[in-house]
Amino acid sequence: MTETVTNWAGNITYTAEALHRPHSLDALRALLADAPRVRVLGSGHSFNEIAEPGEDGVLLSLDALPGGVDVDTTARTVRVGGGVRYAELARRVHGYGLALPNMASLPHISVAGSVATGTHGSGVGNGPLASAVREVELVTADGSVVTIGRGDPRFGGAVTSLGALGVVTALTLDLEPAFEVEQHVFTELPLDGLDLATFDTVMSAAYSVSLFTDWDAPGFRQVWLKRRTDQPLPDFPWASPATEKVHPVPGMPAVNCTEQCGVPGPWHERLPHFRAEFTPSSGAELQSEYLLPRRYAVEALHAVDGIRRTVAPVLQTCEVRTVAADEQWLSPAHGRDSVALHFTWVEDTEAVLPVVRRLEEALDPFDARPHWGKVFSVPATVLHARYPRLKDFRALAHDLDPAGRFANAFVRGVLGT
Ligand SMILES: Cc1cc2nc3c(=O)[nH]c(=O)nc-3n(C[C@H](O)[C@H](O)[C@H](O)COP(=O)(O)OP(=O)(O)OC[C@H]3O[C@@H](n4cnc5c(N)ncnc54)[C@H](O)[C@@H]3O)c2cc1C
Repeated sequence: MTETVTNWAGNITYTAEALHRPHSLDALRALLADAPRVRVLGSGHSFNEIAEPGEDGVLLSLDALPGGVDVDTTARTVRVGGGVRYAELARRVHGYGLALPNMASLPHISVAGSVATGTHGSGVGNGPLASAVREVELVTADGSVVTIGRGDPRFGGAVTSLGALGVVTALTLDLEPAFEVEQHVFTELPLDGLDLATFDTVMSAAYSVSLFTDWDAPGFRQVWLKRRTDQPLPDFPWASPATEKVHPVPGMPAVNCTEQCGVPGPWHERLPHFRAEFTPSSGAELQSEYLLPRRYAVEALHAVDGIRRTVAPVLQTCEVRTVAADEQWLSPAHGRDSVALHFTWVEDTEAVLPVVRRLEEALDPFDARPHWGKVFSVPATVLHARYPRLKDFRALAHDLDPAGRFANAFVRGVLGT
């Protein structure tokens, strides 16, 4: 029986005839044994063909595989099955009085899919979500189980792996004691006169800070500060406190968003912008995002401002975040403290693609690395120059998967194989 499988945004229909949901490791191995090419679909929140298995390929979901969430309170770690989403993980971990260090804007996404693409939240001291991972368990193309932990020379390639090494059946993550967060929203932060020192101070004003704009005018319509209640309340003279609850996408209802107005609450109900029980963001959209060294933040924002009349007509909202450097070879934040410029576009690929190309030209001088899960057109030759450890990743992928059964067209394009 054929089944139409699409990504969350609906802009990608996978060519696979069905989504296979193995119930056991043996069933997973049987599928692997018969398949010329395999990809795993997480929660499908990527906007490009990263999960596309190709016409002869098999698409797998790990939703039905046993092995959910197993917390070790003594070691302060959690082992998470390959299909688990952050919403479930966060609830379970919080039940033990423990926390993850950070979350993305939404809890709906799968853990394995998120860390595979370098997904991140915000915070000058917070690395991508993959920084919390201490061990990866993979089932490789020949059915063997391979475990790669911190300290293993292969670890730098093992977490943000674009799904190219094998089926990630479990991840072990570091936890910390649970904490509370308050969300304070401010409005109208001007771009004029914003120098790098002020930008850094604004972005360091709380544990996690996001700026939003529609680029209809220079400057930012909203500033979201997520303050840990165990850290001091910042003075924030650069913008005015919001008088009502807001949504980052103009016109969308604030009820979809996590509690604001400084009401304290558990980390997992404040670090994401969107509540688990509602559609995140606008729901009808495409997204792109670029990470560049933080020292270029203000110059890069002026470069985007310079083309805002091209960008604004197809834009729903733009979010600016910071991401601390990490060591994953394919992480867009690899080796550099980064600023992340995110764009939520209208749901119109034809109208959006030329603007994406124009934006990439504007960001080219800043060594921008695209988010692996979003729409981009940066050619492989440029990607190679921007990822110093890409060759090491290619060698690791070849070692674990010599026949390239987990390498789809997207991965082959990135790796140049
Ligand atoms: C509304 C919305 C908001 C977003 N907000 C953010 C944000 O705040 N920050 C950010 O950085 N990104 C954000 N994203 C992007 C999103 O986090 C990434 O696209 C992420 O990869 C989604 O995870 P997923 O499980 O849906 O991945 P999928 O799209 O399902 O898969 C991504 C990749 O992971 C691989 N994969 C998944 N599971 C496995 C597994 N078990 N084993 C092997 N490979 C696997 C897939 O093959 C594919 O290559 C957002 C996306 C949406 C739609």
